[in-house]
Amino acid sequence: MIVFDRVSKIYPDNSVALDEVTLSIEPREFVSIVGPSGAGKTTLLKLFLAEEKPTDGAVYYESTNIHKFNKKETDAFRRKVGMVFQDFRLLPNKTVYENIAFTMEAAGRTDEEIESDVPHVLELVDLTPKVWNFPRELSGGEKQRVAIARALVNEPDVIIADEPTGNLDPANTYDIVQILKKINDLGTTVLLATHNKGIIDLLKRRVVAMERGRIVRDDRSGKYFV
Ligand code: ADP
Repeated sequence: MIVFDRVSKIYPDNSVALDEVTLSIEPREFVSIVGPSGAGKTTLLKLFLAEEKPTDGAVYYESTNIHKFNKKETDAFRRKVGMVFQDFRLLPNKTVYENIAFTMEAAGRTDEEIESDVPHVLELVDLTPKVWNFPRELSGGEKQRVAIARALVNEPDVIIADEPTGNLDPANTYDIVQILKKINDLGTTVLLATHNKGIIDLLKRRVVAMERGRIVRDDRSGKYFV
């Protein structure tokens, strides 16, 4: 379970990014965080990754305050979280296979595990035919599917997706949403930040709406009112 307990974040230039945010997310939930640019969505995700510290309040994962971890504990915690970004962040000089294998190597996985898991995860995102292609040879939707495969391959408890469809057309957006849904159905908690209304309507899952650093709505039936 993820808990934000009265979390505020004020950046050094006095921007108030989060203002007493309280939020609980159950294991295996799919939660979309919506709201206009500047609402605090990315800051919320960064606090969960311990990339930023709260000014006030605390963030818990499985009852542990993640901002009290030492470096080793923080690294171990981050391995439980897979990340997907708007700009894909693939390594341009590596093939699809190598992009995913690289992440597994960094996590200390064996060659045998890499050889068996990379094809498996590519199948999950329906990208098997592109295994030996480079990112420049892929469409935006395909790149994002590689990024999702990479985020999944170390079997995280949670996937965080920050505007994953921001650079995609509606057809690719639809595919990415279906893949995220499938991953969630297989048991991974998904936290999706977006301002794409279409995505939310497709998902029909919990929607947390933010405005100016506050949660203004928390709708379990999945409607986007902002
Ligand atoms: P969103 O993801 O919803 O667009 P952000 O979390 O990026 O929102 O930003 C929330 C607020 O915090 C905005 O006013 C933004 O300008 C400010 N902000 C974000 N990051 C920083 C930073 N590193 N330094 C100063 N202000 C920031």
